[in-house]
Amino acid sequence: MSDTTYAVFEELSKRGHEQVVFCSDEASGLKAIIAIHDTILGPALGGCRMFPYASEKEALTDVLRLSRGMTYKAAVSGLDLGGGKSVIIGDPKKQKSELLFRALGRFIEGLGGRYITAEDSGTTMQDMEFMRKETSHVVGISRSFGGSGDPSPVTALGVFSGIQAAVEEHLGKSSLAGLRVAVQGVGHVGYHLVGHLVRAGCKVIVADVDQDSLKKTCTDHKVESVAVDKIYDVECDIFAPCAMGASINEGTIPRLKCSIIAGAANNQLLNEKTDAAMLATKGILYAPDYVINAGGLINVSNELQGYNQEYALQQAEGIYDILKNVFVVAKRENIPTFRAADDLAMQRIEAIQRVRRTYTGMKPTLERTRLRGA
Ligand code: NAD
Repeated sequence: MSDTTYAVFEELSKRGHEQVVFCSDEASGLKAIIAIHDTILGPALGGCRMFPYASEKEALTDVLRLSRGMTYKAAVSGLDLGGGKSVIIGDPKKQKSELLFRALGRFIEGLGGRYITAEDSGTTMQDMEFMRKETSHVVGISRSFGGSGDPSPVTALGVFSGIQAAVEEHLGKSSLAGLRVAVQGVGHVGYHLVGHLVRAGCKVIVADVDQDSLKKTCTDHKVESVAVDKIYDVECDIFAPCAMGASINEGTIPRLKCSIIAGAANNQLLNEKTDAAMLATKGILYAPDYVINAGGLINVSNELQGYNQEYALQQAEGIYDILKNVFVVAKRENIPTFRAADDLAMQRIEAIQRVRRTYTGMKPTLERTRLRGA
């Protein structure tokens, strides 16, 4: 990342980041980056990802992108939180240790609560508990420590509520009974989502690369499966991506035989603009991923006030109303649903910022163009 190859400050200002912290600890081998995108609504909350990034630039680009996404997710979900994320450069299968996570915990403690961490891909609840020995600014810890535990059931309930909103909007139905749903990926979230759908009277078809997950889902919920690549061709009302990102793209969209895309996976569209346009042409309604899958964030954020599962579940069900509003705005403004979600998130941040300015005389710290960034 020399001056001539990578302009770090230019990157930060382009995307509107407030602060980026590079963390190095020789004793534990820690190499990590914490990115705080925006704290207008509250402290920046976002998970800690561990991944063997090929380069420091790749790690920085990822943490900048992910932390910015968290700002939008928290804002559209009505949470009083900003957006942040951290990444550890390393192989989660080989390079984890108590020392490593305690070292990162100390860096997080040094930020005095501006950044709150949580579990993400490559990290576990155990890793969060190591960090908790050094900082209180960590959520997603186990129920036995007063934490919120596994967020997946809450995420699944949020996705289910979002599917109900999409069905009412696009198919004009208040019940899911009799609808066909293709679920791609039946891991932590997909498994629970299938349970909700079956109880609601849907006919569910699933696919997963992992035979154990597939067998468990098919046995427990009595649903049928198809081969991994065939899931795109299933005739259905709803396609629910609950595996990896980018499964909706120019190669898969022509194959889809659904009316609605609504699932848990992050970054479902490979190329937001062109994929959204292709979906619109096919008359498919897309429930923006970061809106419909916000149950996990909602769940961990509840730890900050003292975890109450009943309240977290109730809040996750609120995704129904949030998504309905996204659809209303998209229709009214004639814009894609992902853009409507971004606009709603942005409007909330701006409104809070205006209130602060009015009542405290504070100057705004961020302009709309900066926050939207690239
Ligand atoms: P998971 O790893 O438990 O489950 C994903 C499943 O998808 C696995 O069973 C995996 O075998 C399967 N899979 C992978 N590639 C596949 C493919 N090509 N075709 C079919 N199946 C495939 O993950 P999860 O926690 O259930 O999360 C699912 C998605 O939702 C991820 O994109 C995650 O980022 C997102 N998400 C999860 C949460 C949460 O609370 N867990 C919250 C928000 C978003």
